[in-house]
Amino acid sequence: MRSKPKRSTPIPTASGSTTAGATVLGRSAAPRTIALALLLLLVVPAFAQGPDPTRQPRSDDGRFTNLAGDLERAGPGVTVPFFLRRIAKTFATPEGLPPRVENDGAFLRENARASIPTITWIGHATMLVQMEHQTFLTDPIWAERASPVPFAGPKRFHPPGVALEDLPPIDFVVISHNHYDHLDLETLVALSRRNPGTKFYVPLENAGLLREEGVSNVEEMGWGQVAHSGDLEIHCLPTQHWSRRGLFDGMKALWASWAILGPSERFYFAGDTGYFDGFADIGARLGPFDVAAVPIGAYRPRAMMKIFHMDPAEAVQAGRDLEARALIGMHYGTFDLSDEPPSDPPLLFRSAGRVAGYDESQIWLPPIGQVLALPTGKPVLDPAESGGSG
Ligand SMILES: [Zn+2]
Repeated sequence: MRSKPKRSTPIPTASGSTTAGATVLGRSAAPRTIALALLLLLVVPAFAQGPDPTRQPRSDDGRFTNLAGDLERAGPGVTVPFFLRRIAKTFATPEGLPPRVENDGAFLRENARASIPTITWIGHATMLVQMEHQTFLTDPIWAERASPVPFAGPKRFHPPGVALEDLPPIDFVVISHNHYDHLDLETLVALSRRNPGTKFYVPLENAGLLREEGVSNVEEMGWGQVAHSGDLEIHCLPTQHWSRRGLFDGMKALWASWAILGPSERFYFAGDTGYFDGFADIGARLGPFDVAAVPIGAYRPRAMMKIFHMDPAEAVQAGRDLEARALIGMHYGTFDLSDEPPSDPPLLFRSAGRVAGYDESQIWLPPIGQVLALPTGKPVLDPAESGGSG
């Protein structure tokens, strides 16, 4: 894999400007900055060439692949028993689900422009984030089931943290990939109808799916590309995952993670991913992040899940690689997708965080629906009480 630039290096962004880290250098450092930028062009080819939608690797048949190439998947000896266990568990109600608090959306609507920076876990990989006077959602799913059909498939354990009709106006949405628990067309159509101005950022070859349903305000992005929304930079970045919605469309649509960077806050959304070297590259180039939302569930059986889903310890290591000051756990306790009991991910995430040197205040596992202030991670009980933590 690519070598990692040194920490003290000012990191050029794809748009040609430099990140906050560069401001520590005086004016006399400009020639050195240019030399280092040129050096980075050589050592970080996947990032440093500016917007180029052809950069994500493809297999010989034209389908997308991962940075590590085509990864070997578990055989039927692992997958068939797994799917049988899934069917058997459909009728069980698991214990140890995350708590949920009532949230009528009033504070979030009020805050949409006043903008105390906040993050709210809506459930699964859906985060509602407010920063720089904008509100955005990650992988929004309000559906009852994460499934191609409404009558079967994983059913959510809790209602979403905020009802769709109670949401503040949504400026934009980022989507990680086309799996049903991350790209929920019904929700995207509802969001688009509610506010035609809402912009949807999707990885390459996913826009058609939305457009077919009448969602036209869509922008496709490849790894390394950057879009802008007001003062926010929206970076489309790699993950190690896969895609498929139908029988014959495997790997035809790209998957991604996203960094949303503002003058005051820096947020990273890992989407759905296995642990991979790319986190260190992203951290070196765009870190540090105030908070990274990392998936901590759907990791068992390891023989099947490891290449595409991190376990909690890997999620913590990803946070370290990303240079994230705090981590918020997601992708657990909402849909039953895997073998581990829902009580395990938060317990293991906390203990792995401790081992890796994150203290209690840096590992966030809020109840569904609870609004946290950024960058402290403290619950926002009352706008007056939260005191503008930004
Ligand atoms: Zn997925």
